[in-house]
Amino acid sequence: MSQDKAAEEQHIKRMADLLRQGSTLTELACPACASPLFRLKSGDLWCAKCEKKVIVVKEGEEPAKITGSMVLDSLEATLLAKIQEVQSKMQHEENMEELQKLGTVLSGLLENLEKIRKAKRV
Ligand SMILES: [Zn+2]
Repeated sequence: MSQDKAAEEQHIKRMADLLRQGSTLTELACPACASPLFRLKSGDLWCAKCEKKVIVVKEGEEPAKITGSMVLDSLEATLLAKIQEVQSKMQHEENMEELQKLGTVLSGLLENLEKIRKAKRV
C-alpha cells in the first residue's frame, strides 16, 4: 500500500469518526485542501484532513464553495444526503454487527465524496 493511499484511508477514517461523534458534514470545503468541512458540536468548522479548525474570518462569510458541473453537484448532494442518513441510523443502532456494516458504508460514501470533490477542483 502506498503512503498516499494510507494517508487517504486515515483521512476517511477520521471523517467517519467525526460523524460517529455527532459532528455534521457541511457542504463547505476547506480553503486549503478542498476536503469537506465538519461542524463540530461546539459550532466550530473542522477540516479532517488538515486536522485543524477552519476559521471564518468575517461574520456571515463562509469558506469558498467549490463550483463544478451540475452532474457532479447533484452526485455530491446525493452522497451528502446518504451520509446524513447513515449517520442518523448509526446514532440509533445498537447492534454492533449492524454498526460495523454502517461504518463500512459510511467510509465508502466519504471516499466517493472525496473523489467527486477532487474531480470538481480540476
Ligand atoms: Zn483542509
